Amino acid sequence: MLTAASAVTGMILPAGMASGQAASPASLPAQGGNAGYYRFRVGDISATVLNDGLLGGPPRIYASNAPEAELQDVLRRAFLPTDRLTLNLNTLLIETNGKRVLLEAGAGQTMGPQGGRLFENLAAIGLRPEDIDVVVISHTHPDHVGNLRTAEGGKAFPRAAVFAPRADWDFFVRNDPDLSYMPVPEDFRRNFAAAIKRSVEPVTNGIELYEAGAEIVTGLTTLPAFGHTPGMANFLVQSGNDQLLLTADLAYHPIVNVDRPWLPGPDRDKDTALASRRRIFDRAAADRLLVLGFHYPFPGLGRMLKTDAGYAWVPAGWQF
Ligand SMILES: [Zn+2]
Repeated sequence: MLTAASAVTGMILPAGMASGQAASPASLPAQGGNAGYYRFRVGDISATVLNDGLLGGPPRIYASNAPEAELQDVLRRAFLPTDRLTLNLNTLLIETNGKRVLLEAGAGQTMGPQGGRLFENLAAIGLRPEDIDVVVISHTHPDHVGNLRTAEGGKAFPRAAVFAPRADWDFFVRNDPDLSYMPVPEDFRRNFAAAIKRSVEPVTNGIELYEAGAEIVTGLTTLPAFGHTPGMANFLVQSGNDQLLLTADLAYHPIVNVDRPWLPGPDRDKDTALASRRRIFDRAAADRLLVLGFHYPFPGLGRMLKTDAGYAWVPAGWQF
């Protein structure tokens, strides 16, 4: 995932946003009064969305092939700013067979100042980082691995086994990736690549590399969802007849990548990413799966409806 709200680069920020003090809902402090966690169940598995905060950037980054006038119109009709799209960071904690498994580590401070709230939300449900047994990463972009490292450079989840897709590890961590496909300036790409290596450094010893398709723990299977990155996986959580599909970054925001078919600019291989998106969205629609979108408006849960034109995102009702 990409953001422009980057203190590191200071680039392409709409005027007034760089300091995080603009009059936007995205700049509300964490202590705004609303919970940043959301509990629900998947059969016998208890699940909790833990918000790690927000990031954002110019809408064009997330809808690379949208005609400009249509993009502006879609944003206006959704009562959203036309110069900046805000994305959530919805990590998920599942508790299955006595193990606490965190799906996605979140951004921390790697993508701007509004990330890194995972730990306060973990504390809000009575857990500490050392209570996490397993962390599974869908792909190694900074907003999915940022919280693996503490400010001091240690392991943020000291007891956890960390799983990452092998193809991403080879591309981003073991090599110096060519990120010229990303629609951002060169210094942003450099910082992006460095943030990945820095974030995973404390867990490199002992990293568990998986091939998409592998079962990680009972009730949690990974699915190939390649294209956004070489190894991106989706996650299927299953218990009894209940299923939950986590779609990682197949889409950034439902209004531009689900309700409209526009392609995320950061997709490395746009044809493969599009094929993955269609295959998995079709399955979600056909099986009426509950879906969690990592970057969708909190808590990010809903379903995919197949329409004549493509798909529509239908948010799930709040459970009490
Ligand atoms: Zn992302």
